Amino acid sequence: MRTTADAVIIGGGIIGVAVAFYLAREKYGQVVLVEKEPFMGSCSTAKAAGGIRAQFDTRVNIEMSMLSESLFTRFKEDTGSEALFNQVGYMFLLSDDNDIKTFKKSYELQKSLGLAVELLKPEDIHKCARDVRTDDLKLATFCHEDGLGDPHEFLSGYEHAARNLGVDIELKAEVTDIETTKGKVGKVKTIRGNISTPLVINCTGAYSRLIGDMVGADIQVQPYRRQIVTTGELDFLQPDFPMVVDVKSGLYTHKESKGLLLGWADKSIEPSFDISIDPDYTDKILEKALDRIPRLETAEIANQWAGLYETTPDHRAIIGWEPVISGMFHVTGFSGHGFMHAPAAGMVTAEVLTGKEPTVDIESLAPGRFATGAVIEEGNVI
Ligand SMILES: Cc1cc2nc3c(=O)[nH]c(=O)nc-3n(C[C@H](O)[C@H](O)[C@H](O)COP(=O)(O)OP(=O)(O)OC[C@H]3O[C@@H](n4cnc5c(N)ncnc54)[C@H](O)[C@@H]3O)c2cc1C
Repeated sequence: MRTTADAVIIGGGIIGVAVAFYLAREKYGQVVLVEKEPFMGSCSTAKAAGGIRAQFDTRVNIEMSMLSESLFTRFKEDTGSEALFNQVGYMFLLSDDNDIKTFKKSYELQKSLGLAVELLKPEDIHKCARDVRTDDLKLATFCHEDGLGDPHEFLSGYEHAARNLGVDIELKAEVTDIETTKGKVGKVKTIRGNISTPLVINCTGAYSRLIGDMVGADIQVQPYRRQIVTTGELDFLQPDFPMVVDVKSGLYTHKESKGLLLGWADKSIEPSFDISIDPDYTDKILEKALDRIPRLETAEIANQWAGLYETTPDHRAIIGWEPVISGMFHVTGFSGHGFMHAPAAGMVTAEVLTGKEPTVDIESLAPGRFATGAVIEEGNVI
């Protein structure tokens, strides 16, 4: 392992590899990525449902997604690797008047930023998602440019391209401490050796607070367990079934293999690193799914898993310089949207670090916002 580097990225999930790729493409210098596990992307990235959408209610999240969607579509051109962004669309089902009011406001903002989002009447919802129960629905929003991707394919593509551009990737290299001198980062200590560097980029997702603790920085990211269930083959499923989100119940579902993936965020769960499967959580997902898609009655469970959302108090990412120590940059806290925001996060991080104007204005994602109270909450969180 190298003993010096121009930048050390901590974390080999989708965010770390995207940052590594874009930094290397900008010819930043010698970049080393250190990952504690024996495989890349084995934490939250491996658990993601693969959803990619630009239907958010804060400007910065809409812009991050729109940039990401354009980068996902030209992934092969940029990295040389194949990875499918399947633009089947995202549909938010609305039955509650307050939700309709909020979504109509977001729809106006999304349209003003150039997003191709539509409002659908219940009869149109039925056409797009045949087996969804619509009797209580009043409206839906739909964006055909949103869709699905395989996080592992995109991670591998970024990893491969970053290695080709000269990034060193070190596995089983858990960071145990960060040495600082005179208020600046100096040395990253790992269980496989130490690396002197003037720049540390924290891409450790749900573990970011622990990295912050090493330098006395208060990183406002908490880990929350989230579960997913997949069904066996469903012969009634239409080929172009979109990602469907039932806003009232919080259920989200999309095609996965020949069945459906079903997910829901239990917002009553306390923060912890526990990723065991809770059967009561599974039952609640199935209950919500049966209510919205009654034909699932005969479906079998194919698989289920739990993973961690890396959540900030306002459900928006933290991208920017750490205020308490020089030379530390955070790209973390994507609050359940890290796969879809990875391309944009990688690109804007590389732009900032090479002194360019970032393509998306990320001022409102600065780490210091929680201390100053300059917080704008993202409301459209699944
Ligand atoms: C059930 C579920 C469904 C989801 N669905 C979606 C979705 O549909 N769309 C979407 O966009 N997002 C989704 N997400 C969120 C998405 O998975 C995350 O936002 C994203 O993976 C975050 O990537 P990351 O690289 O920041 O974190 P991670 O993938 O967790 O990577 C962080 C890495 O840092 C490493 N690390 C930690 N500490 C250290 C250390 N001390 N030294 C070295 N390495 C360290 C870890 O081992 C890990 O590999 C979902 C998440 C879950 C749990």
